[in-house]
Amino acid sequence: MTVRMAVPNKGRLNERTIELMSKAGIVLGPDWGRRLEVDIPSMDLQVFFLRAQDIPMFISSGSVDFGVTGQDVEAEAGTGLETVLPLEFGHCRLSIAAPDSSDIANGKGMKDGIRIATSFPKLTSAFLEKKGLKGQVVFVQGAAEIMPQLGVSDAIADLVATGSTLRMNRLREVETIMESQACLFASKAALGDKAKKAFIDTIAASLYSVIRAEGKKYLMADVPVEKLSEVEKIIPGIGGPTVIPLDGTGYAAVQVVVSTADVFRSVAELEKIGAKGILTMPIERLVE
Ligand code: AMP
Repeated sequence: MTVRMAVPNKGRLNERTIELMSKAGIVLGPDWGRRLEVDIPSMDLQVFFLRAQDIPMFISSGSVDFGVTGQDVEAEAGTGLETVLPLEFGHCRLSIAAPDSSDIANGKGMKDGIRIATSFPKLTSAFLEKKGLKGQVVFVQGAAEIMPQLGVSDAIADLVATGSTLRMNRLREVETIMESQACLFASKAALGDKAKKAFIDTIAASLYSVIRAEGKKYLMADVPVEKLSEVEKIIPGIGGPTVIPLDGTGYAAVQVVVSTADVFRSVAELEKIGAKGILTMPIERLVE
């Protein structure tokens, strides 16, 4: 059995997806940018590089079994795919924004007849309907931000991450339609196949192990035996520290996973209680 995976071929989601895969040991080789399909025979995996927008449709039709895309893209496609794993990057929100000086931006609300330019027509129409508003959705492939100025629309529905693009175009965010991040999606059919599901779960677990390991360090130190009781307070790591007595030395080797943010403080406090040989190391993967 060979399983097929879809990966965004460019855009915001591409680079981080490849990085996560490679850290998880799914190595694509040097040619993946130009070749749109890469075989990894050792894993029985075929990776296809496709447009993020097309990926939901290809998963839903069964052309591929699973893949990575944004929740916004999947929701717009309306394919109802299963979310296997949120990948904790590509965070953004689909929001309504209107020119700074407009009534809409100044709290007067949206009215019937509103024209909204967007690359997300289905989600925007559903949003208007939910609000009980009769409006017009103007579909554009991109550059929605400029449509109010062109007189094409009164407002836009677009993706916002930091908000700086909106500010630069003198637009104000008025309402969020949905929050989004990159996810691993699969079809119900693929997950209904026992062997495929097991494979997809293994890939998800390996990607998750990378996400968890980032922002964590492995800390090792030799601690005086009489100070061991203080160690747990200093480094409350995952599962508590591993303690290995170093016979006849009066020391014990302590090993623990700590958050990167806690490393500076932990090392300083370990030094204070007389620890020696303090080492911190990056972690590639963290499986529990
Ligand atoms: P920002 O200026 O950081 O608010 O980003 C807004 C611009 O980046 C808009 O042009 C969006 O279409 C685009 N954008 C932001 N986040 C994403 C994302 N996760 N996926 C695709 N496009 C995005």
